[in-house]
Amino acid sequence: MQNILLKDVNIFNGKDNKIEGNLSILIRDGKIVAISSNPKLSAGEKVQEIDCEGMTVLPGLINVHAHLSLDAEAPFEESLDESTEMTLLKIVKNGRLTLESGITTIRELGCREHLDFAYREGVERGVVPGPRMLLSGKVITKTGGHGYFIGREADGKVEIMKAVREQVKAGADVIKVMSTGGVMTEGVEPGLALYTFEEVKAAADEARRSQKLTASHAQGTEGVKNAVLAGIDTIEHGIYMTEEIIELMIEKGTYWVPTLTPGERLTDPRAAELIPEYAIEKANRVKPIHRENFAKFCHRESLKLGIGSDSGVPLVFHNDIVTEMELFTEYGFSNFDALKLATFGNAELLQMQDKIGAIEVGMEADIVGVYGNPLQSLSVLRKPKLVIKAGVIV
Ligand SMILES: [Zn+2]
Repeated sequence: MQNILLKDVNIFNGKDNKIEGNLSILIRDGKIVAISSNPKLSAGEKVQEIDCEGMTVLPGLINVHAHLSLDAEAPFEESLDESTEMTLLKIVKNGRLTLESGITTIRELGCREHLDFAYREGVERGVVPGPRMLLSGKVITKTGGHGYFIGREADGKVEIMKAVREQVKAGADVIKVMSTGGVMTEGVEPGLALYTFEEVKAAADEARRSQKLTASHAQGTEGVKNAVLAGIDTIEHGIYMTEEIIELMIEKGTYWVPTLTPGERLTDPRAAELIPEYAIEKANRVKPIHRENFAKFCHRESLKLGIGSDSGVPLVFHNDIVTEMELFTEYGFSNFDALKLATFGNAELLQMQDKIGAIEVGMEADIVGVYGNPLQSLSVLRKPKLVIKAGVIV
């Protein structure tokens, strides 16, 4: 691995609301080892020098809700029928698009047939490019429940515990449980619980015994509350959020990952060509409730939030976390808030803040370089000029 010197760069470090100029970053063995106006090289040290004049670098972006095996551009039901081989090829493509867009880490929350583990092995062995990944394997859902096509159907406590153990055995870092119905599965209702409290708790307890993080797709009030009380770490979507649940989440330190992008995209006229009527109907029905509740609770003091796009849902593209960040700013978050959430904040959510999410000495060299000032305009992130993952230029 070649050592790299990024010369004359402006830095947003992921934590502080400022950009510091005229600095250089020395990357050695994949890690940031020095940040100063003139980092000292070892005697005889060879580095690849990159002149970054006019460039602002920030920590690699993190998307905490991705589905690499879902094709954001194909008709949804058609893509569910494609072969395993075709899905794997698409995962490789989606992973590359993710990384090239400056998203250097994802949390993959539900993938067909454990293809996520094969893909990660391919990335780690240098066979194909891709981001860092925390993987869930298959989602755990009731028989015929939400997301069964990327899931392990399991009913009752014992079967659910076994389903968790299967994901752990396959290499999962996080266990994803479907607490409620959702938009993209026919015949399930977003507002209704799929599992009983005891079933969700069985999954959460089993995951904790294996020291795995937990995430729950949870949209309706009963299901969200079940998930929070069961000790799930992150609530995904949280559409029918209530005051009582928000207070519980603050008390327990539960994260809310609202995933605002799908609500926008599934109600876009373009979606009609890609998604079935039942999904359009549900998306239009829940979107205003989601927006209203996010607006109502998102600034509550001590509430923890995460930025995840739900990429792979039709029209939620794998190379785009910026739309989700921009949507946060529609609710009164500043560009700085959105940048911090998508870097250091998401790293904390993943419990990886000692490794990623900041540009500091000792951190992994996951770095995105853009022209323009992202604190002034998030849209400059859409065209990164430089992406480095673990000290390797993408
Ligand atoms: Zn999802």
